[in-house]
Amino acid sequence: MNHPAPSPMRAYDQEQPRPALSVVVPAYNEQEVLPAFHARLVPVMEALGLPWEVVFVNDGSRDATLDILLQLQATDPRVSVVNLSRNFGKEIALTAGLDHAAASQAVVVIDVDLQDPPEVIPDLVAAWRRGFDIAYAQRRVREGETWAKKATAGAFYRVMQRIGGRVQLPPNTGDFRLMSRRALDALLALREQHRFMKGLFAWVGFPSVPVLYDRAPRAAGTTKWNYWKLWNLSLEGITSFTVGPLKIATYLGLVTAVVAAGYGALIVLRTLLWGNPVAGYPSLMAVVLFLGGVQLMTLGIIGEYLGRIFNETKGRPLYIVERHIPSGEAYRQASSTPIGLHRLAESGTSGASAA
Ligand code: UDP
Ligand code: MG
Repeated sequence: MNHPAPSPMRAYDQEQPRPALSVVVPAYNEQEVLPAFHARLVPVMEALGLPWEVVFVNDGSRDATLDILLQLQATDPRVSVVNLSRNFGKEIALTAGLDHAAASQAVVVIDVDLQDPPEVIPDLVAAWRRGFDIAYAQRRVREGETWAKKATAGAFYRVMQRIGGRVQLPPNTGDFRLMSRRALDALLALREQHRFMKGLFAWVGFPSVPVLYDRAPRAAGTTKWNYWKLWNLSLEGITSFTVGPLKIATYLGLVTAVVAAGYGALIVLRTLLWGNPVAGYPSLMAVVLFLGGVQLMTLGIIGEYLGRIFNETKGRPLYIVERHIPSGEAYRQASSTPIGLHRLAESGTSGASAA
């Protein structure tokens, strides 16, 4: 079987001049924090001296998020708005934003709630200018998060590290990162329905470097996550990232079978030597229940994968865009300064992505 390499989505206008950098921001019910986020982003991006745009994805918010975005767009032409037809979840919203990012050089992915401080972006850009394709922000501390959340997050990363094999997830790393255009194009060629973005970022590879930062508590609004959602995200992460659990199920079955065979032999031997006084109801129950449990669990694991195969075979589009308002003229004027000059001005460093 010889599949042609899937080409990345190009949901932006290729005829138009393109900004060097796109900042991609998914937003779901974020009316409280959006204006503050934009106000903090603008000076940081302006200081970089590169033409830029910010792509906000409204992930089917039920509050005034869309109105605020349209207002921002009306006053700041560097704002691009992608409005999804309903709530698709963060991973898909992020993908929609990346598809619509017109950047010719690199994209930055950031949360709107100011937990990822925009002030870290210059450090990410600096790492990219040093020649890395992916600069991912790594949390130094998790402020404002409960002990339990830290512990569960830690356990999740340990499990992923164990079963990840060749593809390793960096710990304490969210989606906050910079990607060169070529790394982004590679990522956008992956069109699976079950998108665990951290896993996809890692799968793409390319020279990567962590940039340490302090994660702030949410500035306003509330987290859209609860433990049930986090558990499902972990399940998604594990099952879309590796078939390790299927192997575990196999070995669990194998070990159980061997132990059961040994135990069976023991019973036969004992009956032959000492006769059978017909006891053993409790041990019978224990074995039956244990085996039943193992079988159900194994079926469940297989079911998790089967369900995902089912979803993939439908071949549906990942999301539906209700409307897309691309960023406007602003960066075309800014781009009259050749990008190469900025890059050279950075003490003779060479960028990672030859556009
Ligand atoms: N988000 C989204 N769709 C959703 C849930 C969240 O686009 O269904 C966005 C949200 O607006 C924010 C980011 O994803 O920009 C991270 O969400 P949140 O802060 O709630 O998650 P946490 O930081 O607690 O992991
Ligand atoms: Mg958050």
